[in-house]
Amino acid sequence: MRKQDVKSMTLEELEVLLGDLGEPKFRAKQIFDWLHQKQVDEFSAMTNLSKSLREKLEAECKISKLEVVQKQESKDGTTKYLFALENDKLMESVLMRYGYGNAVCVSTQVGCRMGCKFCASTLDGVEGNLTAGEMLSQVYQIQKDIGERVGSVVLMGSGEPLDNYDNTVRFIRLLNDPKGQALGQRHITLSTCGLIERIHQLQEENLQITLAVSLHAPNDEIRNEIMPISRKNHMEELLLVCKQYGDFTKRRVTFEYALIRGVNDMPSCAEELAGRLHNMLCHVNLIPVNDVKERNFYRSSEETIETFAQILRSHGIETTVRRKLGSDINAACGQLRKGHRAGGR
Ligand code: SAH
Repeated sequence: MRKQDVKSMTLEELEVLLGDLGEPKFRAKQIFDWLHQKQVDEFSAMTNLSKSLREKLEAECKISKLEVVQKQESKDGTTKYLFALENDKLMESVLMRYGYGNAVCVSTQVGCRMGCKFCASTLDGVEGNLTAGEMLSQVYQIQKDIGERVGSVVLMGSGEPLDNYDNTVRFIRLLNDPKGQALGQRHITLSTCGLIERIHQLQEENLQITLAVSLHAPNDEIRNEIMPISRKNHMEELLLVCKQYGDFTKRRVTFEYALIRGVNDMPSCAEELAGRLHNMLCHVNLIPVNDVKERNFYRSSEETIETFAQILRSHGIETTVRRKLGSDINAACGQLRKGHRAGGR
């Protein structure tokens, strides 16, 4: 039988587990505290538990953990971590240092199966979903490594968070738990390529996180060319579900738009996009596309990006251009891929 991962469990689930082991409820709270406040990865470190309980836990359960295989630091302070899972698969997370604090870009899957043409994470498909404990470990390991708190999390690493829905929502709730890290939901952003039914489902969770939707085109025609999921998730319906999400949660939805030269960066695209987003509480984040050398996509010129932004703004749409971080170490948007262990193991 596979051992249950206690790091992925809510306090209530831990209480049930401890009850099954014939232990009082308050033990669950102690364990939760070790896992999510003190962030230990060994039962043996939980010194306020009896030795026999620690041994029982060791026999029945496990604590998911990640091994740092490699760390690369960019000139701008951005750091990419290559982590190994217990099954030896590799994946990456990125630490970004902003004036307002530390942000971590968390991966939700090993690889991705969404197939966006401009993204390296999807080149070899998906190899597996990460558990909530594995997502938490990315944040906890980085906190331990830098000796500082991580103040915000973006679910923008490799993988499609809504294609790993249950684990992702569980991760958000655990990270937000006041008895754990208590990271405010408003400091968590979930980015999706736009799976309509899942966005609808997410709305029902009633979370206060920021929803970011990767739009990257003003219409289905262009979107179909660069994002295969667009064939089943049409833009009109997608924008409608985003509007409903915004109205329901009272949270401004972010639209991400990677500008690719000659593909989606023409002034006519900006005009069309503005027309579609009219009357919607939203924010557009323009991303100069990062080269993925397997594909022939190039970033737009500074001038084109500025013109695009100006057109959107002239229609009253709040627009920002994403600052490029970590591209010298392939840690920027769309550059995360299944890692390679130097020298093998
Ligand atoms: N699967 C999710 C989250 C991962 S990607 C999603 O699609 O949103 C995080 C963001 O980086 C997305 O907006 C994605 O479209 C964008 N991205 C992917 N490849 C990129 C590239 N080469 N240059 C710029 N942004 C890219």
